[in-house]
Amino acid sequence: VALAAPALAIDIGGTKLAAAVVDGGGAITWRGAVPTLVGATAEEVFAGVVALCDAAPAAHAVVCGVGCGGPMDPGGERVSPLNIPAWRGFPLRARVRELTGLPTYVDNDAKAIALGEGWCGAAAGHRDYIGMVVSTGVGGGIVLDGRLLDGASGNAGHIGHLIVNPGGRRCACGARGCLEAEASGTAIAAITGRPAADADDETVARTGRLVGQAVASVANLLDLKLAVVGGSVALGFGAAFFRAAQAEVDADARLDFSVGTRIVPARLGADAPLVGAAAVGRHGLEADGHARPVRVRPSGPAGGGGE
Ligand SMILES: [Zn+2]
Repeated sequence: VALAAPALAIDIGGTKLAAAVVDGGGAITWRGAVPTLVGATAEEVFAGVVALCDAAPAAHAVVCGVGCGGPMDPGGERVSPLNIPAWRGFPLRARVRELTGLPTYVDNDAKAIALGEGWCGAAAGHRDYIGMVVSTGVGGGIVLDGRLLDGASGNAGHIGHLIVNPGGRRCACGARGCLEAEASGTAIAAITGRPAADADDETVARTGRLVGQAVASVANLLDLKLAVVGGSVALGFGAAFFRAAQAEVDADARLDFSVGTRIVPARLGADAPLVGAAAVGRHGLEADGHARPVRVRPSGPAGGGGE
């Protein structure tokens, strides 16, 4: 299987289901979307995925990658996205595998975006970084030593639940002062009484500082020096947000190995979920040994002992 072959990408969101055909360079050659039905049954929601896959010109695709909100079992065998109440323990991977006939890999949507930014976005060429989404919620995925971290249950990277304001606002997870409870679009609207898009300068700066605090902690903990941040809130706030975040990172990441940590905007923008889903598929194929970079291997065993 050549890595130049296209992938069928599916992004499962609470407001829409999207699909794309993504070529081996990360370019989207076809895309489609349908609304996620509210108040529907599990099968009615899945019918949207069926319609998208029927429409996708994916005859040459070699893999299907899916990004979906959590929580989920490892590998997305059963998914229970908080924003799709009809799916509780829904067997997403097996159903998409059966539907498409393709090897199918499912992962958390924030981890997908982190993989996508490393493949052909702002983290390309980096072996150690965190990819983050600051949107209605706050999520993330961590690549360390060139590998996406999964963790014991596949949930590594939940930076939204780092405590940045001890004793602060109650988070949906039950704790207080989580980054998501203080800096997500939902939290900003609750704190200010206005949508994040209408936030004033102080709110933008505060959000940047809180995200910067979390990133500095991650840099110190994991020995990485790059955070790529996307999502409608972060990208909507723009340069003022990133200035405040970088200043906080500069103040808080002070160890020899963490000094100079950078926090930069994601490059894939609105395409990140679909390119990320394609990256999940490619990553899965490679991890399973079905695909390898095209290169000539030296002939003959180096040590005479075979594999
Ligand atoms: Zn929390």
